[in-house]
Amino acid sequence: MFHETITHAGGTTEGVASEAHAVTLLDRAVRRQYAVEATPAGGALITWTRHLFGPGATSVVLVDRSIRLDPMTPVGNLTDAVREDLALVDGDPHARYELQQERRVITGGLWRIPPFATAGLRARRLVVEDRGHVRLTLTARLGLLAHAHRTTTTAPRGWYHPSAYESAGLNRPGRRAGLLRDSTSTAVCTCRELSAVAGDRDEARRLARDHRRAVAAAFVTARFALPVTA
Ligand SMILES: [Zn+2]
Repeated sequence: MFHETITHAGGTTEGVASEAHAVTLLDRAVRRQYAVEATPAGGALITWTRHLFGPGATSVVLVDRSIRLDPMTPVGNLTDAVREDLALVDGDPHARYELQQERRVITGGLWRIPPFATAGLRARRLVVEDRGHVRLTLTARLGLLAHAHRTTTTAPRGWYHPSAYESAGLNRPGRRAGLLRDSTSTAVCTCRELSAVAGDRDEARRLARDHRRAVAAAFVTARFALPVTA
């Protein structure tokens, strides 16, 4: 279950969204080419811009709209051990609950998740029983996606003393009192698919955001397939 916050012309509306409703919202958003991002808590942010004609239909007004889905139970820290357990469950369509010595475990037959870890996955709403089988929740999938794509941008170097080599190229723009300015910033992602140098940090942040949106769109199109983690 998610808290749903819709930002529209009249302000914001709060509500509650089931997992099925959240899936519908994400599907529709990607089909309409709205921007979707997964949040580390296991939620999602959908944003788009509406083009409205202003008075006299001569001007176009851009209006930002959004739907924010915040999980009622945030995924918390997705440690290596938790992610390994979730990968086991996700990789086996026969994953199910079983009582072993009166304690509940998740098992696929050839593997089992010990009672304590099983209890943790259930309490954190990372898994759910669905038609006799145990599967990952949408919250777990969104959290894993955000975890697989943690982006950062580097701080620009700013003004610096050029090396002797750089001093040789004198008429550089941006040169001041013998100093050179470097405003470039690099955007990188933990998935290693993104490593780009931008002219400044704002541009680097845009590159990082575009990357997170691209992987989220692919994730929805692939029916919420788990990201491949390093
Ligand atoms: Zn990435």
